[in-house]
Amino acid sequence: MIFNPQDQFMNLETIQVAQQQKLHQLVQHVYANSTYWKTIMDTRNIHPTTFVVEDLEKFPVITKENLQKHLSDMICVSKSEIIDYVCTSGTTASPINIPLTNTDLDRLAENEYQSMLLTGATKDDIFQICTTIDKQFMAGLAYFLGIRKLGAGIIRQGIGAVKTHWNTIESLQPTYLIAVPSFVVKLINYAIENGIDYQNSSVKKIICIGENIRKEDFSLNAVGQKIADSWNVRLFSTYASSEMATAFTECEHGNGGHHNEDLLSIELLDQQNNPVKPGEIGELTITTLGMEAFPLIRYKTGDLCTLHYEPCACGIHTARISPILGRTAQRIKYKGTTFYPSAIFEVLHQFDAIKDHAIVLETNNYDSDDVHIHIALQDTTLITSIKEAVKTTIRVLPTITIHDSLVMLRKKHNVAHKRKLSKVIDLRAKT
Ligand SMILES: [Zn+2]
Repeated sequence: MIFNPQDQFMNLETIQVAQQQKLHQLVQHVYANSTYWKTIMDTRNIHPTTFVVEDLEKFPVITKENLQKHLSDMICVSKSEIIDYVCTSGTTASPINIPLTNTDLDRLAENEYQSMLLTGATKDDIFQICTTIDKQFMAGLAYFLGIRKLGAGIIRQGIGAVKTHWNTIESLQPTYLIAVPSFVVKLINYAIENGIDYQNSSVKKIICIGENIRKEDFSLNAVGQKIADSWNVRLFSTYASSEMATAFTECEHGNGGHHNEDLLSIELLDQQNNPVKPGEIGELTITTLGMEAFPLIRYKTGDLCTLHYEPCACGIHTARISPILGRTAQRIKYKGTTFYPSAIFEVLHQFDAIKDHAIVLETNNYDSDDVHIHIALQDTTLITSIKEAVKTTIRVLPTITIHDSLVMLRKKHNVAHKRKLSKVIDLRAKT
């Protein structure tokens, strides 16, 4: 794949013609190389040679369960072609090993290369990667490959002590950090407590992964605002998953992650798998383009968002994605209302004194969920204002338990070992 920076500015019609060609290549590839996809296409009268874009709807939507059940039949290459095995994070389901070929790794590099360009990066920049790069994690590897393609400098700091991060910031002078927003808050707090002149550090831009920094209207949320208020840096949000191997990254206008139509075809579907109306919240459903080992067609990601089609001020015509507003699997039905854990987290983030938090979800006998909020908090006098803030936002008040630390809670529920710190402990019976 040859990158042409002008591609992003092509008109929508040209982009869509290019995407149709890629979809055509995709169905021919899966038909020839995967028993899973061949069976679906034969059963549903989808012909690889006469395929037109409208035929995409003939494919069934698939979910993580399909991947877990049919993984080996979905893989389109022989073992000898596989270079890297990525593992999905498995916060809500058992993890899946996704194979990548050399071509897939090139595509991954292209994907993050274009993401970095969107943020205005050049080969003169130095990136400090503050996220996991080993443990079969895709994101860290993707950043490395994309930045390498850009020709910029890379510091693979990974997960580690805050002090170590400041040491490399001071010695190697990175201009970018790639980090989880709550970790950036820790960096700021550490700098303040230890007299580090962070305002005059080399860091000018931060690419934020894993957690939202914006609300649905693209204004900064509590964490985003906290960072923006205390550090003079530009923030960019990026969203991706191992299954789609593609990132939605913001440009400098901060109006949602840009959809890269060269790498991914997207739909926004409701619970009945029908397209939602413009502006409505739906589940992001993806079809990968250019993936060789493990292409996916109409995969429901479980991530809920809205899409925005007005051209961005940066000149790019493709859709922009809102922050992820929730996970379908984490939808909570409680005392007659429906909401997502993110709504509670957004409230808790407003209180600096809360050092850690988690929500435990259980099933009760009344076709409803039981919701228990657990927080690590020293200053217990704040509890009244925390309760009020939660009730104002979600209109109901789950139980709130105060702890010194949530280590024992996570151990008790057997989630202490997870790669990502579990904020949602879902004990509800799965039907
Ligand atoms: Zn833009």
